[in-house]
Amino acid sequence: MQRKYNFGAGPATLPQAVMEQVQNELLDWQGKGISVMELGHRTSEFNELILTPALNELKALMSIPDNYKILFITSGASAQFSMVPLNLLQNKTQADYLYTGIWSHKAMAEAKRYCQVNIALNAEANGFTAIPPSSEMTFSADAAYVHYTPNETINGSEFHWIPETNKVPLVADMSSNILSRSVDVSRYGIIYAGAQKNIGPAGLTIAIVRDDLIGKALPVTPTLYNYKTYADNNSLYNTPATFSIYMAGLVFKWLRSQGGVAAMAEINQRKANKLYQLIDASAGFYSNNIDKSCRSRMNVVFKLPNDNLQQLFLKESAAAGLLYLKGHKAVGGIRASIYNAMTEKGVDALVEFMKDFMKGNG
Ligand code: PMP
Repeated sequence: MQRKYNFGAGPATLPQAVMEQVQNELLDWQGKGISVMELGHRTSEFNELILTPALNELKALMSIPDNYKILFITSGASAQFSMVPLNLLQNKTQADYLYTGIWSHKAMAEAKRYCQVNIALNAEANGFTAIPPSSEMTFSADAAYVHYTPNETINGSEFHWIPETNKVPLVADMSSNILSRSVDVSRYGIIYAGAQKNIGPAGLTIAIVRDDLIGKALPVTPTLYNYKTYADNNSLYNTPATFSIYMAGLVFKWLRSQGGVAAMAEINQRKANKLYQLIDASAGFYSNNIDKSCRSRMNVVFKLPNDNLQQLFLKESAAAGLLYLKGHKAVGGIRASIYNAMTEKGVDALVEFMKDFMKGNG
């Protein structure tokens, strides 16, 4: 069996070492004679050997301060688009959003059900090819929170700075760049992320929520959309995504063995540089129109001179074992998602393929 290189945006490639461990213990986990998939979430084994270690590993990896709760939620990152306003609005009627691409737009559209959404930074005029500078941010006087999307998975742009919101809670949808580099968690009110890119299998969403923001949800908030439900019950109010939490814990451990997020950040930057350098040196054969100040290190998007070449590129790359490079249908083109678990060897293979493809078709 030959593992291929999976450049899909998510569910995405996972570390080979973790996959092998999971395979080895799939039927008989820790000599118990059962699989983790069959293990009850209220057993002491789940609590002591899976849930608590996963929480501790993540806390250590991200240096999460003691006044934050880590919550394991099942409903996907998209559910956070409503959980955030439901939990943070309290008696306010407005929230500020940084509008930098398709995912921030989805978050805004959902928030509009609950409050007035103000656009505090807007990249629409440049077609989402650049994140305007922080000097262009205009916050409203009475916003309950400021929401942004540090990495726009579809557009291929990324913030390389943290917005300063002057005491208003900052909320970040880190679905596609969590754990890819160090962040100062204390700058945030809430960080949330779907697991299926940089953490583990789908089905798990992680929310890291500052204590003072928990317990103030609007009265209409459904029980499972209230952060307090998860905080009060150690994420065990109802059945969590047990297998995804188990795998997330193994990925966290693997990350630590690689040197943690600081080491990953170096590797991730090197991987992204290799692709951008080739694109920029290709005399227009490959083109990436994202401003250099905000190119994504996780999702490298680019186009070829025409649609026929793009189709051929996708066909031949797949045949060469480089899978799922097709860009999101909303923007077209090619997208190479190169999260933590994509090895440098995988990126090198893509770079070599791109060079050869250009030679043959340029
Ligand atoms: N936010 C971002 C930045 C994403 O990339 C995605 C998924 N691609 C989502 C939210 C939605 O995640 P989910 O499918 O888990 O709801």
